[in-house]
Amino acid sequence: MQNLIYVPDPLLRQKADKIQSVGTAEKEIAKTMMQIMLKAPGVGLAANQIGILKQIVTIFFVDQETKKEINYTLFNPNITYYSEEKIIMEEGCLSLPEQFAEIERPQNIVVEYLDENNKLIKKEVSGVESRILQHEIDHLSGKLFVDYLSSLKRNIMIKKVQKFLKNKKK
Ligand SMILES: [Zn+2]
Repeated sequence: MQNLIYVPDPLLRQKADKIQSVGTAEKEIAKTMMQIMLKAPGVGLAANQIGILKQIVTIFFVDQETKKEINYTLFNPNITYYSEEKIIMEEGCLSLPEQFAEIERPQNIVVEYLDENNKLIKKEVSGVESRILQHEIDHLSGKLFVDYLSSLKRNIMIKKVQKFLKNKKK
């Protein structure tokens, strides 16, 4: 059984490997990730966060306008376009429990990825979906949302996580 890992676990700082093709093993990892993400609960998860260095991302959220559940897996996701317009949104991360910060990122992106059937998908996303995907795809290259903050703020948050996890174990 895989579990969530937390800062400062070095696996969160490593690059995830591209997968050759989506097979049974990759689908199994995605399924586990989906379960862990829903249970946490979180809106997105990258495989690094359960200690697996493969380029897999899962996403789950409810679209506020359409009330539809957006729920899918991306294999080898790659952002090929960033809009010039940027937007500030609050972010959190399952690897940094209880920590939140306002982060500025491009508003829209174009993302390319393989779906479960090895089909190459290319789509433009905006809003919350764009935000979650940028955050999760950062994980695959060992980047965390706190890296957009000053080192002072980042270190405080990482220390707070340590405290949080210590208290949780008690
Ligand atoms: Zn995260």
